[in-house]
Amino acid sequence: MADKNWGHCKGCRYFGTHHPNPGDTDVARCMEPDLQPFDLQVSGTSGCNEFEARTGMAGGVSAEEPAPSMH
Ligand code: SF4
Repeated sequence: MADKNWGHCKGCRYFGTHHPNPGDTDVARCMEPDLQPFDLQVSGTSGCNEFEARTGMAGGVSAEEPAPSMH
């Protein structure tokens, strides 16, 4: 049985880090809604099959994304 969606925390949107580009040694909370009750601390090289790729680069939900200007 293949892990359909496995990926590393450092590339996951639920990795609760401030870093825009987290690395292997970064440790942060997992913010995945189903896992949040467990208050997991995960590192960049951890991972699970709830992985969802960070969308910042593709222009999705991102704290780093500049607000559109409304002149
Ligand atoms: S444990 Fe899973 S859901 Fe949480 S940050 Fe890591 S890959 Fe994402």
